[in-house]
Amino acid sequence: MQALVKSKGEKGIWLTDVSVPEYGHNDVLIKIKKTAICGTDLHIYNWDEWAQVRIPVGLTIGHEFVGEIVEVGQDVQGLKPGMRVSGEGHIACGFCRRCRGGLRHICRQNVSVGVTRNGCFAEYLAIPAVNAYPLPDSIPDNIAAILDPLGNAVHTTLAFSVIGEDVLITGAGPVGLMAAAIARHVGARFVIISDVNDYRLDIAKKMGVTFPINSMHTTLKEAMNTLEMKEGYDVGLEMSGNSSAFRNMLEFMTHGGKVALLGFLPQDTQIDWNNIIMKGLQVKGIYGREMFETWYTMVSMLQSGLDVSDVITHEFSYQDFDKAFEIMSFGQCGKIILNWM
Ligand code: NAD
Ligand code: ZN
Repeated sequence: MQALVKSKGEKGIWLTDVSVPEYGHNDVLIKIKKTAICGTDLHIYNWDEWAQVRIPVGLTIGHEFVGEIVEVGQDVQGLKPGMRVSGEGHIACGFCRRCRGGLRHICRQNVSVGVTRNGCFAEYLAIPAVNAYPLPDSIPDNIAAILDPLGNAVHTTLAFSVIGEDVLITGAGPVGLMAAAIARHVGARFVIISDVNDYRLDIAKKMGVTFPINSMHTTLKEAMNTLEMKEGYDVGLEMSGNSSAFRNMLEFMTHGGKVALLGFLPQDTQIDWNNIIMKGLQVKGIYGREMFETWYTMVSMLQSGLDVSDVITHEFSYQDFDKAFEIMSFGQCGKIILNWM
C-alpha cells in the first residue's frame, strides 16, 4: 500500500510503498478514506527539535482520519467490516491508576498513532478496536476526518461552564476556531478570539466569534471596552502555545476566572503568578480527548446543530501532499483534508 513515511531524518515526507499493517486479535484494520493534517504532522515534516527527539525514522505519520473497517481481529466485539469509523489516536495502557479510574486520556504510558506508532496517512491503518469510533451517517466524511482536533476543542471548551460567560480564546488555529463555534453552541455570551494571522481571524467571523482581535493591533482591554465588559474575561481557553498570549490572557481574566490550557507553551514561559494567586484563578491542563465522553459529546453536538465546516479550507489528493504541507507551513489555511479514495 502507499503511505506518507518519514523515511529520512531531514525536512520532508515521502510517499512510499509499505506493507499493509498486521492487525492483532483485538484490533481492527481500517481502509482510510480521508485524513487531515495537524500541526504535529508539520513538526514532523519540518524535522524540528521536537520531532528529532521523538519520531522514529521510518514512521508512517498522521492521526486524523475517517475510514471503513475492512477486517476485525478474532476477539473483537461490537464492530464489523463495513462500519464507518474515526478513531482515538491515543492508545492507553489500560492498567495504570488513571486508566483503571476511567481517565484514559491521562494514561501514563500513552502510545500515539502517527507519533510513536504507525499512523493513518496510508491506505490502511490498524488500531485497537476500542480506539475505533463508529459514526452515524449524518456526519459527513470531511467532518469525520477532523474529529480528533474537534475533540481537543470540545474537551477544552467544556472543561469549565461557559454558559452566559465571556470567553477569551487565544489562538485562532483550527482548534481555537472550533472552540469558538462550540462556546457559541453551548451558550456563551461573548466569544473573543485573538491571533496574529488575519486569514484565520476572517474564518473566526464565520464561526460565531463576537470579536476577533489581531493582537498586534488591538489589546484585550480594547475589546473589553468595545463590548462594555467591566470586570474581565470569565473563561480563558489558551490555544496558541504562545507565551505572551498566555501572559496577556492572565492579566485580563476576571477574579475567580477559569483557564483551560491546551496549547503547548514553551518550557521557559514566564507569567505573573500573582494573576493566578491573587485573583484566585482556576487553571486546568488539557490533554487529548476524554475516552470516550468527549467523542459522545461532540457527535451529539454535531447532530444538534454545531457547525464547524468553515474550518476546512483546503482539500487535496494524498498524492499532492507536498502542496498541502507547503500551505500549512504558511498558515494561510484552516484544516486541510487529504483524500485517499
Ligand atoms: P495552530 O498552531 O494551528 O494554532 C495556533 C494559533 O496561535 C496560530 O494561528 C497562531 O498564529 C496563533 N498565535 C501565535 N501567536 C499568537 C499570539 N501572540 N496571540 C494569539 N494567537 C497567536 O495550532 P492548533 O492545531 O489550532 O492547536 C492549538 C494549540 O494546541 C497548539 O499549540 C497545539 O500544539 C496544541 N495542541 C495541544 C493538544 C493537547 O492535547 N494538549 C492537542 C492538540 C493541539
Ligand atoms: Zn494507562
